Amino acid sequence: MPHTTPSPTELLASVFGFSAFRPGQKDIVDAVLGGKNTLAIMPTGGGKSLCFQLPALCREGITVVISPLIALMRDQVRALQEAGVVAGALTSGNTEEETDAVWNAIEAGTLKLLYIAPERLASSGTERMLKRAGCNLIAVDEAHCVSQWGHDFRPDYLRIGELRKTLDVPLAAFTATADAETREEIVTRLFDGTPPETFLHGFDRPNLTLAFAAKDSPRNQILGFAAARKGQSGIVYCGTRNKTESLARALREAGHSACHYHGGMEADDRRIVERRFQAEDGLIVVATIAFGMGIDKPDIRWVAHADLPKSVEAYYQEIGRAGRDGAPADTLTLYGSDDIRFRRQQIDEGLAPPEMKFADHARLNALLGLAEAHECRRKSLLAYFGDTEVTCGNCDLCETPPDLFDATTSVRKALSAILRTDERFGAGHLIDILLGNATDRICQRGHDALPTFGVGQEHSKPIWQAIFRQMMGQDLIRPDPERHGAFRMTQAARPILRGEANITLRRDTLKTADRRPAVKA
Ligand code: ADP
Ligand code: ZN
Repeated sequence: MPHTTPSPTELLASVFGFSAFRPGQKDIVDAVLGGKNTLAIMPTGGGKSLCFQLPALCREGITVVISPLIALMRDQVRALQEAGVVAGALTSGNTEEETDAVWNAIEAGTLKLLYIAPERLASSGTERMLKRAGCNLIAVDEAHCVSQWGHDFRPDYLRIGELRKTLDVPLAAFTATADAETREEIVTRLFDGTPPETFLHGFDRPNLTLAFAAKDSPRNQILGFAAARKGQSGIVYCGTRNKTESLARALREAGHSACHYHGGMEADDRRIVERRFQAEDGLIVVATIAFGMGIDKPDIRWVAHADLPKSVEAYYQEIGRAGRDGAPADTLTLYGSDDIRFRRQQIDEGLAPPEMKFADHARLNALLGLAEAHECRRKSLLAYFGDTEVTCGNCDLCETPPDLFDATTSVRKALSAILRTDERFGAGHLIDILLGNATDRICQRGHDALPTFGVGQEHSKPIWQAIFRQMMGQDLIRPDPERHGAFRMTQAARPILRGEANITLRRDTLKTADRRPAVKA
């Protein structure tokens, strides 16, 4: 290394081989170099690691990097070493030689970046060692791991705040998870509640067309979407393994080149699909979420969800695999009552503590809000990530603004039917009551004598189904985890029932009745 430290821009080229900073990187690098506490929120693949690796090279002493995944650490260390940077990791995966090399570099004062797993912070020696080694910057990768309500919570991350105070050095935190609650928790736990300089960049993907559609005849909807993009590489995400196989078959029958992919396949078979997708033009892969992690194909022209993903983050991640080359790419996400019920049940039946379930329902609500959004899809999506300055013109709702109507009266009737039957019935039975269908089941239970019997004849059965779906989407009603299919009213519905609030629904998505897919594997 020469004695005069090269500028960040020089290092960007000479060490990392990049000709320019990505949007946002320069500001973050400057803040970290200036010794400020920072929190940077960037999507996966946005280029976070450079934002601490580059300052580490410019600063005196060692930068300690805390990261939750050993494989990720080893990758980064290898890449840095190949670029001629003295970097090392202390993890349980080390060979003895690797560990010796790290200690020697610390002794010699040549080490610039030291990666450690959070578990190491539990041993009292680590703090002393870092102090003696001249650690002058803490970088925290995947900082959302400090959040107890997230799925990646790592208890040892809670020790980082203490480490920052003991070492008395600046801390730079990085994450791709940006919902407001998580961010607040990061500030509390890592920065003792004093807001760091915060950067949020790069979530908008203007070349992606965003669209959602209520499930009508889902298989045909996907076939139609694919037909309009024949010969282009695409991914269809499905909720189940079986569906990937049947849908891939249907696509082949429609003349596409398509194959399925899921975690239950042999590793070799999976690799064949990955290679084909990478190499071929115009292959469609119908997959579960197992597909995508290692996919680095820039010219995926479309991504479709045959089933609703589990959160806004998952949705964003999955559609984000399209159009990496910057050229236009299309996305379509289907959703229906069954999806909502399935996702709610998944949360309720999980083993998570009640607070975490509450947070998961809230995350699902955010996605459902996006699905039945009343204004620009991109604005709703990016608002979730905290980005409010958005121009769009490239989503289904900008193209065709949704047709809204005041649905207060209908929703009140539906809620009243739910309450008068003690929250024990699902949509089918409730709709029979609203329509005044004196079925055997209705008569046996005396529901034909209810004041709500027959009060909903202004709508057809499919319209009522769509109203119930939108009510689920707005979290006014939830499937009862104890009783399959039965609806319970949520707190959010009370003001509507009491006449203190009105409710607006989308008329356009009422037209798509929520028919069950013809289940044929
Ligand atoms: P993240 O940690 O945000 O998911 P990475 O730091 O792994 O992302 O970076 C993602 C990819 O972008 C890497 O392949 C990296 O080499 C590349 N990259 C980062 N910064 C730049 C840049 N300024 N110019 C070009 N490529 C970059
Ligand atoms: Zn829009």
